[in-house]
Amino acid sequence: MALNFSERDKQSLWHPYTHQFNVTGLPVIVSGKGAWLYDEHNNALLDGISSWWVTLFGHCQPEIVSAVFKQSTELEQVIFAGFSHPQAILLAERLIKLAGNSYSKVFFSDNGSTAVEVALKIALQYFQNQGIKNRTKIICLQNGYHGDTFGAMSVSERSIFTWAFRDLLFEVISIPAPLDIKTAKETISELEDMLKKEEIATFIYEPLLQGSSGMQMYPTEPLNFLLEELQKHKVICIADEVFTGFFRTGTFLASHQLEHQPDIICLSKALTGGFLPLGATLVTPAIYEAFHQPEKRKMLFHGHSFTANPLACAAANATISLLQQPNTLTTLKNYCSKQQDFAQDLGKLKNVNQARHLGMVVAAEIENARSDYTSHLAAQISTTFLQKNIILRPLGNTLYLLPPLFITPADHKWLHETCLDVLSNL
Ligand code: PMP
Repeated sequence: MALNFSERDKQSLWHPYTHQFNVTGLPVIVSGKGAWLYDEHNNALLDGISSWWVTLFGHCQPEIVSAVFKQSTELEQVIFAGFSHPQAILLAERLIKLAGNSYSKVFFSDNGSTAVEVALKIALQYFQNQGIKNRTKIICLQNGYHGDTFGAMSVSERSIFTWAFRDLLFEVISIPAPLDIKTAKETISELEDMLKKEEIATFIYEPLLQGSSGMQMYPTEPLNFLLEELQKHKVICIADEVFTGFFRTGTFLASHQLEHQPDIICLSKALTGGFLPLGATLVTPAIYEAFHQPEKRKMLFHGHSFTANPLACAAANATISLLQQPNTLTTLKNYCSKQQDFAQDLGKLKNVNQARHLGMVVAAEIENARSDYTSHLAAQISTTFLQKNIILRPLGNTLYLLPPLFITPADHKWLHETCLDVLSNL
């Protein structure tokens, strides 16, 4: 599509997480194919962050294109209260199987934030439905991020993202990320009184990888310890796998690397291969049972106009079919090992600290860069990479790479080499 927009043409837009003061020169992306996006002047840009972590295989992945097209000729939307449809039925069954069969129900919503809102409401109402009135406290991890709606903001780190609403967010107990077993044990002893008094309703966490706070990775053992102790005290554990789900950490769920499984799982982002917005909240039979009650007030009063949209569900089903093809896991293994090698190369650079790797994600801190989200250096680094035809968007001073899975080996090599070159000349 040959298009040419002037800066004036673009003035009606308000972009997310973008300082609106004097916004000019934002590239207009008109098409995508595989790991590449193409702007209005036909410049090819390699998508190094999978378009905010949603694109799983690649842009316009043909199998998903066909599935969405076919679905749009059959059924594009139907009210999901009182009606069902084949794509949602199939998708729920497949998600339950993939999650490990400990879950019995899937509640669909629109995105990551709503998947989290639904999880929090279910966890809190679960106790209310049973007449347990004092279980109302919520635990979350320091530096966590769970979305931009009010509940999701409340359980996220208080930061520049949330300061304008700080007096309106509900209170939570924020505990340190379980970086080691000592920290996890100290946390549990600090919570002991509340645990004994049965005041804690739920614990929400990004398993093994805290994405938005700067791709912070933490080990399995201390999280396992926390989960075991909290579940012993009947705390509902919510794994926010919005980012970590769909093999981002190397396994289908990050939780699959743990011995102790969550009671509720939130999914979104790569769920549709990155084609359409969709959220899913999976719950265990025990949780659902508390809502399967004759009294009407015990039902879950939640639903969005586009709940389980058939086009989004069709994209998700096509995504799962692609994941289940034998070659996909081999591709994933090769991809992850290239990312791991790249982390090692990054670690050798003088101006880079804490190069790290988990599954598909590589991250590192750039020295001397200010660490907050609005850092000018982050913007400058993005611009420098854009000039090299690569889309990267550091989180403060954290640079991370997560290109689409089906990036060609040659493009993957080029991306790594160009990154090393740019960083060593920063
Ligand atoms: N949870 C996590 C762990 C996330 O990383 C995000 C988005 N980055 C969200 C929730 C919110 O998802 P959405 O932007 O789709 O609302």
